[in-house]
Amino acid sequence: MARSLHDPVTVLKGVGGKKAELLDKVGIRTIEDLLYHFPFRYEDVSVKSASELVDNTKASVKGIVATEPVVQYFGKNRNRLTFKLALDYEVIQVIFFNQPYLKKNIAANQEIVVYGKYEAAKQQIVGIKLFSNQQHVDDKDKDFEAIYHLTQGLSTKYLTELIHLGLEAYEDLILEVLPEELQERYHLVDHKRAVHQMHFPDTEEDNRQARRQLKYQELFLYAMKLQWQKLQKRRIANGAQILYDNHHLRDFIQTIPFELTDGQKAVVNEICADLRQPFQMNRLLQGDVGSGKTVVAMICFVAAIDAGFQGALMVPTEILAEQHYKSISEFFEGTPYRVALLTGSTKTKARREMLADLINGDIDLLIGTHALIQDDVLFADLGLVVIDEQHRFGVNQRSKLVAKGEHAAPNVLYMTATPIPRTLEITIMGDMDVSKLKEMPKGRIPIETSWVRHNKQDQVDQLMWREVRNGRQVYIICPLIGESEALEAKNAEAIYETYEAQFGSQFNVGLLHGQMSADEKDSVMAAYKNNDIQILVSTTVIEVGVNVPNATFMVILDADRFGLAQLHQLRGRVGRGQYASYCVLVADPRTDNGKKRMQIMVASTDGFYLSQQDLELRGAGDYFGTRQSGLPEFKVADPVEDGVILELAREDAMHFLPYFEGNQIQYPNLVDWLADHMGNMHA
Ligand code: ADP
Ligand code: MG
Repeated sequence: MARSLHDPVTVLKGVGGKKAELLDKVGIRTIEDLLYHFPFRYEDVSVKSASELVDNTKASVKGIVATEPVVQYFGKNRNRLTFKLALDYEVIQVIFFNQPYLKKNIAANQEIVVYGKYEAAKQQIVGIKLFSNQQHVDDKDKDFEAIYHLTQGLSTKYLTELIHLGLEAYEDLILEVLPEELQERYHLVDHKRAVHQMHFPDTEEDNRQARRQLKYQELFLYAMKLQWQKLQKRRIANGAQILYDNHHLRDFIQTIPFELTDGQKAVVNEICADLRQPFQMNRLLQGDVGSGKTVVAMICFVAAIDAGFQGALMVPTEILAEQHYKSISEFFEGTPYRVALLTGSTKTKARREMLADLINGDIDLLIGTHALIQDDVLFADLGLVVIDEQHRFGVNQRSKLVAKGEHAAPNVLYMTATPIPRTLEITIMGDMDVSKLKEMPKGRIPIETSWVRHNKQDQVDQLMWREVRNGRQVYIICPLIGESEALEAKNAEAIYETYEAQFGSQFNVGLLHGQMSADEKDSVMAAYKNNDIQILVSTTVIEVGVNVPNATFMVILDADRFGLAQLHQLRGRVGRGQYASYCVLVADPRTDNGKKRMQIMVASTDGFYLSQQDLELRGAGDYFGTRQSGLPEFKVADPVEDGVILELAREDAMHFLPYFEGNQIQYPNLVDWLADHMGNMHA
């Protein structure tokens, strides 16, 4: 039978059932698994001279055995083997613990190489490995040794030899998959060579080149896979095709009392071009808080309505639903478009009438909370679904709403004010189209952010007095207490008490935390919106997207406990009106990382920049709070650290794909690879 990289590893000499089990434990089942089981680090085993030795550091030395080796026994089963080794200009002591059998390999006046840890004070090396006879001393010309993930019963020596064997027997089957032009553009070594040099690097530089090749290849193939998949989806003509009248849309845009920003215009064009297509749109709209996403969504709804479809806008809270309903109703005044609001508080009778109008097609746009996904909410012809603050909904909730399109798959626009770091956008969100709103509407005054230590709290309170006396409103954000919401609430209450004592005689102080019921929270938020509350003490439960233009001052206590993205979200509650706004971070960070975060917050108000910084400072695992980050796993590449390569690889894949489609015959290995790895793609 023909050899294949998919052959079980047991075809190799010396891999019996027992070893196969152990190999299985570290994920090695096939030859391919074995050859791609790369070391996670390397040890420098190059021979050092005496002057190059560093205390407490591992190194190899070559010398002449100067004294007969002696084994001394001590304790029960313990012993040490010692001898002196003459290096070029110095004699050092060598000790091997509990390996008395090595003695027979060591004879005076013989040249040997010892790898071990150097202890400067005692002028000795604690041996780890011995290269004794002349043959081996001469063989030991490599400078680096690979260190692998192992398991009990599986030694480095065994694994290294097995990989060596595997490479000898199968190396020729490792295919060059990367298009030659890309390989050349980046001066990448052959893939085959890269795999070899990962295990048995000749030099540090060879190893570096191997990693470079592997990283690029992994990220390029990953990008190819995602984009291929996206392309295929775009060929399925099952979507609601929104053939709106361009003049009607332009006329509506004319009625909007402000000029769209260039960013808004571009994004509207992008989305509307997709809406006209027969495939189902699957698009993410990212825009910082206040960048004007709602208007964009509204224009798209008008396009859908004009083409005879209905729209649905789902938002995470009642307050937000009302806010959107109110503002869109105003824009729709003087148009024939009918908009309705459906939430958990909609009265039974009104709800019944609304649902009847909805299925009749008399309602053009339905705005609401997850009340929209109830089974009896049925549309006549749903063409566009917009999900605001999309991360606040579960996958099921989102797909349930999308499933309400009876005739064709409705187009979906997800919106988020939490900018997604570029790295994640390319990886996790890779199969979506992404639109971005980067600029803010004109006339916004940037929020002024400062960072103060706790001992300056008095001055912060002084500034706060000034703002509320001028008629403005304030947010106080309480520290994040990881352990429990109950503790957090308790702490918030205590902070509330101090502000109530200080300001309560002249202003109304309010409290908001996660232990309150939804109704209680809504009524506090409503009071704050009405300026019945001037100072709001709150945990992070304050709603994303809530618009209180009169709020101009935010204090974030123990700000260093928050991540950058979260701080940015919180800060976005102020600076939404015509007044200058301020955000004060109160923190005594203990770590450099904490200090750095405070400095970055003071320096930047760019949510996209902050989210990428956040990811880099915290690492992907922490960023998501769990190990299951959804980030794809690569063998060598790290999508966060190798962001630059990721970006390049993605662009290359994007440009290459259309050409590849027409010229597959030129790339048989790539075609095979894609076919081989597409199996789980439609999961
Ligand atoms: P977000 O992206 O946070 O959802 P919104 O859509 O709520 O932002 O917009 C914030 C505010 O800015 C709203 O009051 C909206 O009417 C206003 N706005 C949106 N676009 C513009 C624009 N081009 N010029 C002026 N104001 C705008
Ligand atoms: Mg919004």
